[in-house]
Amino acid sequence: MDFTRGRFAPSPSGRMHLGNLFSALLAWLSVRAVGGTLVLRVEDLDPVRCQPAHAWQLMEDLEWLGLTWDEGGGVPSYWQSNRGARYAAAFETLRAKGLVYPCFCTRLQRLNEAPHGHEISSACPCAALTDQEVAEHAARRPPGWRVRVPSRSISFFDGCQGAYTQDLARDCGDFPIRRWDGAWAYQLAVVVDDGAMGITQVVRGRDLLSSTPRQLWLYEALGLTPPEFYHVPLLLAPDGRRLAKRDADLDMGVLRRRYTPEALLGLLAKLSGQQETAAPVSAAELAGRFTWTAVPREDIVVTQDLLA
Ligand code: GLU
Repeated sequence: MDFTRGRFAPSPSGRMHLGNLFSALLAWLSVRAVGGTLVLRVEDLDPVRCQPAHAWQLMEDLEWLGLTWDEGGGVPSYWQSNRGARYAAAFETLRAKGLVYPCFCTRLQRLNEAPHGHEISSACPCAALTDQEVAEHAARRPPGWRVRVPSRSISFFDGCQGAYTQDLARDCGDFPIRRWDGAWAYQLAVVVDDGAMGITQVVRGRDLLSSTPRQLWLYEALGLTPPEFYHVPLLLAPDGRRLAKRDADLDMGVLRRRYTPEALLGLLAKLSGQQETAAPVSAAELAGRFTWTAVPREDIVVTQDLLA
């Protein structure tokens, strides 16, 4: 028994596509290869984009593929929509340290409309508001909330992408942790949850690589132990677009009609460098010979001939 604790953390905003499966398989293999524990957490922070039906569907799709988990899944306390009290406690911890300030910028009101709430605004003018100005703004509309990042360089070693460094103030800036309507931001929730769930290993798409330094800083500010990170390549359509949930052509509905679980795993095994060909294979067989060194670093273009 190994002490590695990994996780799947899907957002149930639509049917999974090949790119989601690629990350999910690598997260699963990395844990199963060492006999660790896998947690499935449902990241349904955004009540507009996320629906329970998508969450149940994605669990069924993962099971169809043989990607099982040991904790979470349908258990309500593993759904972020039920974990607000924990985010509120973390918010208060940060506020007590003087790191939180209200922000009245209209852009912050749109937080979470962009994927993962990515927003760069290193010099938010709201950071300099006096108490009286805050009161005046607050009388007109409720604020969102940002954390004040230090001018500090954060470096870490990513198991897939190698060394990565970011200057928080310059490259990230004060970032939102709560929306004006009370919705919690991804950056805060993911750190609180991975910390509370004792996650030691995070495997996810490399679109989140640039979020990791600010998350590492949040771990520190909240007194939590950070996991190790592996940011895996994204799958791209032939025109260079990232595969997304709206690419219905490669979603699980279509893939399940076209492939058996073993044939789909064979394709994913080839894309992830685990075998030369797309020959059908079971998840357990792949776990038995999984190696991170074979996983490519660069994004992968999924051409039609690969899908044949
Ligand atoms: N919920 C995010 C997504 O579905 C993943 C977050 C993470 O792995 O940190 O893209």
